[in-house]
Amino acid sequence: MTILVTGGAGYIGSHMVLDLLETGEEIVVFDDLSTGFPWLVPQGVTLVEGDIGDKALLSRVIADHQIDAIAHFAAKIVVPDSMSDPLGYYLNNTSKARTLIEAAVEGGVKHFIFSSTAAVYGETREMPVTEESPPAPVSPYGRSKLMVEWMLEDASRAYGLNAMILRYFNVAGADPKGRSGQATPRATHLIKTAAEAATGRRAGMSIFGTDYATPDGTCIRDYIHVSDLARAHVLALDYLRSGGKGTVINCAYGHGSSVREVIDTVKKISGVDFPVSLDDRRPGDPPEIVATGEKIRSLLGWQPRFDHLDTIVTHALAWEQHLKDRTNT
Ligand code: UDP
Repeated sequence: MTILVTGGAGYIGSHMVLDLLETGEEIVVFDDLSTGFPWLVPQGVTLVEGDIGDKALLSRVIADHQIDAIAHFAAKIVVPDSMSDPLGYYLNNTSKARTLIEAAVEGGVKHFIFSSTAAVYGETREMPVTEESPPAPVSPYGRSKLMVEWMLEDASRAYGLNAMILRYFNVAGADPKGRSGQATPRATHLIKTAAEAATGRRAGMSIFGTDYATPDGTCIRDYIHVSDLARAHVLALDYLRSGGKGTVINCAYGHGSSVREVIDTVKKISGVDFPVSLDDRRPGDPPEIVATGEKIRSLLGWQPRFDHLDTIVTHALAWEQHLKDRTNT
């Protein structure tokens, strides 16, 4: 049994590969290296450089390696970019996913784990979010992912492809052993941005909005450590292979932190008082997105190991320092 990990040279995919390696799994990484890096793929893991829209190549890889499961991470993930280039996002995230699903079905792949997103909930007013909260994405990014969820549900019914849909909340941090982390330039996410500011890789940062109806006026998000998220994928794979029925699962701890809390934590742990400006709200940011975090625990037996903001930030800072040393910037 071999698993195909699309986007395995990227941030979250590479963490799943690291976790899978410890279980002795055979892995093939499939990545176009547009935002991933070959040096994030551990030695000994096969890396196929290719486009998930290339069905002939996918079919060949599935047959040659007797792939029984696919974890599909490869996607474009920048929400504002999806606003300016929706068709690019629908091509990459939706049309090409359709090609991948078709190759999977035709190649007899049984299990499929899909990287979805809390963005499918859009501006839901229901807090905390459960898997039953109605999807109402507001960005092309969220819509491009929700359409794939629907395709997978239909493909499961029609062809028996067993699909687990994992909706990620705010992913952050890095491998505790320092082997992987977020390396994509131009990152916009809060903890990454703050870690860049703390390590001098950017001059400072902004808080987008201080007048939200939250205790300290800044937005609240449910931050999940990337290695805990990776473990959820490994557990989902075990669950599917042992006959569990595919479903939707929110990947989150079930409690949130505000932007100010995050920045204060990064300053405390790094010991660097970097400049922070108070700016206007960023369009489309809901005040609070927090999940219950119950289903992931009860269905998969998931027990987070890094459910602490200090730990997430410590690992994010160590990774940022590593990148800085690597590139001398
Ligand atoms: N944020 C911020 N400054 C930054 C980056 C993000 O104030 O430099 C805020 C953003 O407005 C949101 C929260 O941090 O309220 C989390 O944003 P992020 O982009 O990390 O994730 P999102 O929840 O948008 O997916």
